[in-house]
This record gives sequence, structure tokens and C-alpha cells, in this order.
Amino acid sequence: MKPVIVVGGGWAGLAATTELAAAGVAVRLLESAPQLGGRARSVTLDTFTVDNGQHLLIGAYRATLRLLQRIGVDEQAALLREPLQLAVQRDDALLQLHAPPLPAPLHLAWALWHATGLTPAERRAALGFCLRLWRQGFHLPHDISVAELLAGQPAGLVRALWEPLCLATLNTPLAQASAQVFLRVLRDAFAQRRHDSDLLHPRTDLDQVLAEPARHYITRHGGQITTRCRVKALVIDTEGYGLVTSDGIQQASHIILATAPWHAVPLLATHPELKALVQQLRTLGSAPITTVYLSYPASITLGRAMLGFSSGLTQWLIDRGIVCAQHGLLAAVISGPGTHMALDQKQLGIQVADEIARQFPDWPPAQQIRVVQEKRATFLCDAGSDERRPPNATPLPGLWLAGDYTDTGYPATLEGAVRSGVQCAHRIIERLR
Ligand SMILES: Cc1cc2nc3c(=O)[nH]c(=O)nc-3n(C[C@H](O)[C@H](O)[C@H](O)COP(=O)(O)OP(=O)(O)OC[C@H]3O[C@@H](n4cnc5c(N)ncnc54)[C@H](O)[C@@H]3O)c2cc1C
Repeated sequence: MKPVIVVGGGWAGLAATTELAAAGVAVRLLESAPQLGGRARSVTLDTFTVDNGQHLLIGAYRATLRLLQRIGVDEQAALLREPLQLAVQRDDALLQLHAPPLPAPLHLAWALWHATGLTPAERRAALGFCLRLWRQGFHLPHDISVAELLAGQPAGLVRALWEPLCLATLNTPLAQASAQVFLRVLRDAFAQRRHDSDLLHPRTDLDQVLAEPARHYITRHGGQITTRCRVKALVIDTEGYGLVTSDGIQQASHIILATAPWHAVPLLATHPELKALVQQLRTLGSAPITTVYLSYPASITLGRAMLGFSSGLTQWLIDRGIVCAQHGLLAAVISGPGTHMALDQKQLGIQVADEIARQFPDWPPAQQIRVVQEKRATFLCDAGSDERRPPNATPLPGLWLAGDYTDTGYPATLEGAVRSGVQCAHRIIERLR
């Protein structure tokens, strides 16, 4: 019996392979890189191991949490879970809100009403906006940009609250970002169960959170994983499905292409039946995420897991001492495109370090600064992109697509990737049965 072959060992490919292996299906995962994890992986920078970008999960990531449980990861050991609390430094005040132990969405209403650092008018506007969304069922008749959705909200509130939330979740600027996807995230995070809005910070590097435990689970359940194996072409003919790889040709009963869209296109483009699909994928843009890691003496701390900024380059600062015991190490996150993309890494690192020095004048200078820039971190989640995201099934019955860009309804996130992989696996298991 030919195996199912999964191309790509990011979180989508790992989720699909895990589900298939758990169901006793013969499965093989091929990954071109030396390590698993894809766009959510660990990197070693000089003396410390960090991630290719600081990742944050939320309590609403049900498929991801289920996957971690399936592969035997102890959530408490892997993730630091905190009830929703946000702190954003505004020019003149610190916006702070935290959710009390009330049922959703009362916890959000309470958090906004009691937030400090907002004017009474901003507080009323934020609550009125949430109430309107709630009444509309978080649904729009047609997609618009988040900037249009926020029309009428005070400019300072947009800068301090909505813009940092939109960039953190959709990685797309307000003027372009899809309001429908943003509303879905707000609904899932705030309107169902209180714990959905919890913030979950990886306590260890990302490889230890998913990739390595998944590798063990998959191999223990009879699946095979080959890294450093690039798929160069898909062969689809009367013999069935095959893959030309750097290790030779491999036959498959089904193929799950779990790569980013920009890596899927060259593999799909040689097949005339997939022309419309390829054109659709080519319309999806991409957006960068930049993370600047700065190390200070171990005693330096933000005193909280994360702090946002409503002006300057740095959008969020994460204290890795608090979240993963790397004391004195901070991660400054810049989501989406912007003027920072024109700076070289050294200039960018210095500019971010200067911003931090202005915010914390008592701190000594950063001892080490390292920049990790992912130029194609996510697909661009712009208004109308929902319509252009493909389903898991393709016009060829044995060829499937998984990945954060497929039509999961979520922005490019770990949860979107995992959901797509699990769904693909379930569709194949149904077919095989
Ligand atoms: C810096 C950064 C920060 C982020 N922050 C967050 C966050 O805080 N929260 C959140 O939920 N999400 C975040 N994301 C998004 C999240 O990481 C992605 O949505 C998710 O990892 C995508 O997984 P995937 O499996 O769909 O794709 P990928 O991770 O891209 O996996 C595809 C895999 O396919 C492999 N591949 C490609 N071509 C071939 C080939 N021809 N042959 C074999 N293998 C191939 C690639 O090497 C890769 O490993 C962030 C992303 C980045 C980059």
C-alpha cells in the first residue's frame, strides 16, 4: 500500500502527519529544511536559543491545544497561561486592562470599563463598538478594511488598542486588513468562553513545544519523517501520484502539500488541471515580521510578560525572563510592513535599542542585539482575501492543500495551520475507509 505523503514539516504538516499516524495510516513526511517547524521554529543566535519570531497563542486555539495533548505535551510545562491582560504605553499614559473571572463577554466589558489610561470618551467608544459587533453577530454583509470598520473610533484609541491588536493577529496594516477575519478573531477570543482570551506564551523554544514531541509521536506510531528532502516536482499520471525529491521518486496514495503558498505554486504550476488554483494562490500577498532580540543583565525585567507601544517601531516587547526563564532577554516585535524594512539589521537593532533606552532610562545599554527578519512571515490578510483562500481539496482527488493560508477562516496563525492539517488528514482517512 502506498503511503500518504505530506510535503512540509511546519505546524500544518506535523498536525496532518500526527492525525494520520494516530489513525494507523501509512504516512511519510518530507521536509526540505534540516529541522521541522517551518515558520514556527527555534534558531540559535550566538549564545542563546530563541525562535524565528516570538509566538503567542490564545486559549481559543482549540485544535492546537488538542494536538499538543494528543502528542503528550503537558500544557502547563510548555505554555505559560495568563488571563487576558494588556498593557500598552501611550505617549502620555499607560493603557492597562485585565479580564476578571467573569463569563465571556462580561469579562471583556468589565476589562474595558475599568481600563486605566483611557479617557472616559475612549472607554465608551470601545464598549459601544464591542456591543455593536456583538449585536451584529461579529458578521459583516461584505468584507471591508479594519480601518473602515473602525471609522468613528477616537484616533488615540485606535492607535493604543485596535491597531496593536490588528497587527498582532492579522499582521496586516489597518488600511488593508480584512475586517471580517478580524471580527472572527475577536468573536473567538472574547465572545465564547472566558478562557479563550487567555494568553499562552511558549515556556521553551518552539521546537520543544511541538516539532520534537510530534516527531517522537509520529515515529512511535509508524510514520516516517525525512528532513533535508526537497520535493522538486509532483508527478500525476495514470500510475497515480508521485513526487520527485532530492532522494529520488516516491509514490503516494494521497499527497498533502503543506507548504506556504509561495512554495506550493511552482509545484502546482506544471499541471494544467490546476491552472485556476495557481492563479488564485498568486493573488495572495505576503507580509513580514521582524523580531529584535536584545540581551541585558539578568536583573533587567519589564515586570510583566509583555508591553505594547502605540508609537515608534517596536509594537510589543516580550520579557523572555518572565515567559521562558531567559533572564534579561527581551524580544521586540514589529509586525507587518513599514519604514523599518528599509533599514539594515544593524541600524534597525540600534533604533529599537534607542527606543527602549528612552522608555527605560535607568537600564544599562543592551549587551547583544540580534535581528531575525522573516520577509514572508504570513500571507497578507487583506480585505477580500477570504474569497481567495483555497479549500483543502483540489481538482485532483488525491492532492490536498494544508497550511495557514487555506480557507480556515483564521488569519495566518499556528491555529489556522493546525486546523488545516487536521482537516486534510480527516478527509483522507474518510476516503481510505
Ligand atoms: C516571525 C513570526 C511570528 C509569528 N507569530 C505568530 C504568533 O504569535 N501566533 C501565531 O499563531 N502565529 C504566528 N505566526 C504565524 C505562524 O508561525 C504560521 O502561521 C505557521 O507557522 C504556518 O505553518 P504552516 O505549516 O502553514 O507553514 P510553514 O511553517 O511555512 O511550513 C511549510 C514547510 O514546508 C517546507 N517546504 C516548503 N517547500 C518544500 C518542498 N518543496 N519540499 C519539502 N518541504 C518544503 C518548509 O521548509 C516549511 O517547513 C508567526 C510567524 C512568523 C514567521
